[in-house]
Amino acid sequence: MSIDTIFTFLESCYQVCFDLIATPSKRTYFLYMLTSLPIVYFIYKKQKKQSFLKFLLPKKVWLGKSAFVDYYFIAFNSIVKILLIAPLFIFGFKLAFHTTEYMNRWFGYEQIQLSMFSTMIAYTIGLSIFGDFVTYLIHLAMHKVPFLWEFHKTHHSATTMNPFTQYRIHPVELIINNLGAILTFGLMTGVFDYLSASQISKWTFAGVNVFTLMFNFWGANLRHSHVQFKFYNFLEYIFISPVQHQIHHSDKPEHYDKNLGSKFAVWDWIFGTLIRSKEVKRLHFGLGKKDNQNYASFLQNLLNPFKNMLGYK
Ligand SMILES: [Zn+2]
Ligand SMILES: [Zn+2]
Repeated sequence: MSIDTIFTFLESCYQVCFDLIATPSKRTYFLYMLTSLPIVYFIYKKQKKQSFLKFLLPKKVWLGKSAFVDYYFIAFNSIVKILLIAPLFIFGFKLAFHTTEYMNRWFGYEQIQLSMFSTMIAYTIGLSIFGDFVTYLIHLAMHKVPFLWEFHKTHHSATTMNPFTQYRIHPVELIINNLGAILTFGLMTGVFDYLSASQISKWTFAGVNVFTLMFNFWGANLRHSHVQFKFYNFLEYIFISPVQHQIHHSDKPEHYDKNLGSKFAVWDWIFGTLIRSKEVKRLHFGLGKKDNQNYASFLQNLLNPFKNMLGYK
């Protein structure tokens, strides 16, 4: 392997990390961070115990041990993304293509033909709702299947949270999550491509989903943070608020396996896993005292799932 190859690879890794703040499809896109600022200020105004800067950027939250584990995972996962996940996206497009082909064969060509506008609207709504439901089911499995929980613990071992904690994910979970998203994307894109009689290129489908954009614009990055942004009570039955996701990270046993939804709270409501912000007072994040010690470093988080499965506790 030449020095040039290594350098190009490292540059790609850096790009993947940098994309987290430079790409509108990411929750930590710098513009979404800025649009969250007025919300943070509004919440700060209500308590106002310290300076705004101290409230916004507490050292422990951004530079503490738990935060560094987040950053190490972001760096490590950039390698996983380039080597293992990028090739999966090609599979997503192939799946979309074959789905359209099969539908053409089974139902005939251009039997139903939606306009480009109706396709985009139906596709956006369809992918948002169906995609969110698949995400809920995968997340539920991560909590309920012991083998998967071993890997998901990495995300829950964060004892402080800042917006980048969203990417504190074990590589095995990262692969499973992406497989789910790519399968959903491939199937839904194939179906809607058929319904629009292949008028729209699949790259259009891969563009930023309007719904996701709106969701990210309104403080979605505050879910992983110390800022307690709740929604009006009735809204928390429909959409997961930042505080509801913080409850999901609580170390109290009565909060375990609750608020598993990503954007919509309706799945939690339907399946009885919903807790609203007003039901909870104080929150501590993490796995509980004993487990927090076992998952304090990057290496512990990376290797413990394998050790536990092999019985090396
Ligand atoms: Zn979880
Ligand atoms: Zn989380």
